[in-house]
Amino acid sequence: MPSFSTEVKNELAHFNETNLCCINAELSALLRMNASFSLSTRHRLGINFITENAAVGRRVLAFVKGLCIDDIQTELVVKRSRRLHKNNQYTIRVIPSNAVTNLLETLGFISNDSFNMGKDNALLSKYCCKEAYLRGAFLGGGSVNRPDGGYHLELSTSNYEFSQQLLSLFKQFGFPVGHTSRKDKYVLYLKESEAIISFLRMIGAEEVLEDFESTRNLKEVRNQVNRLVNCETANLQKTVNAALRQVQNISKLLKAVDIKQLPLPLQETATARINNPDASLTELAEILHIGKSGVNHRLRKLETMALALKESE
Ligand SMILES: [Zn+2]
Repeated sequence: MPSFSTEVKNELAHFNETNLCCINAELSALLRMNASFSLSTRHRLGINFITENAAVGRRVLAFVKGLCIDDIQTELVVKRSRRLHKNNQYTIRVIPSNAVTNLLETLGFISNDSFNMGKDNALLSKYCCKEAYLRGAFLGGGSVNRPDGGYHLELSTSNYEFSQQLLSLFKQFGFPVGHTSRKDKYVLYLKESEAIISFLRMIGAEEVLEDFESTRNLKEVRNQVNRLVNCETANLQKTVNAALRQVQNISKLLKAVDIKQLPLPLQETATARINNPDASLTELAEILHIGKSGVNHRLRKLETMALALKESE
């Protein structure tokens, strides 16, 4: 199973960016994160970009090719990892040429014959470009935990000036950003689920967020339920476990089946269960204006449908 970071990056690496200003900004951040530059004997510059994510590598290659007007020569080197569960490493080499030197000048890496280490304000006058820049930084050097672990998103770089540029962007957007250093890296991080979700949404992730949010909701229900259980009896524990299981099964069912296709009584029961995850059977019976055994019967029916779904998968 790919890590959650990989899933997010795979989605972002296919984000359809059409603004030239934003492509410049995103590529600039990607290069700041993962590229080194080579100098030919004739003082022309080339690029070496290293990534573990093939989709990110392809995106960089497409951007560089798209932005260089003259022909450029590129090479792709894949270093396969010999260790299990370790990612391959992709190196994209762009051979030194005038076109690449011009591109790096346009992107602001070189100004007045000196190298700019990370002050990219010139590229970041518009909001769209700031967002694209952060997307590039995440694609190049970001990671995020799957929400069923602890909430944590971070960007790490060994380039101090670049880390300060990123820090100021996070602050401009009002994110509750923290920063620290780890070995030779400067690390910026977010720890709050809301901030992580809005950051990922801002830089263009959508599909991965659906899972993120539903897991988060489930986690909150579980916490709420745990609090209840601590001060109640073992009997309640059983009820609560059943309720949790029902919510999970019904959510799964509703992901696969449009709720409107269910018979009306089941629709009402499913909605009532999901909206009241910690209600007892008696309470659900009151909400639905039917007897307890009726509720029980309908819930069991919904769960049977969910289980049948799992088996047919
Ligand atoms: Zn832009």
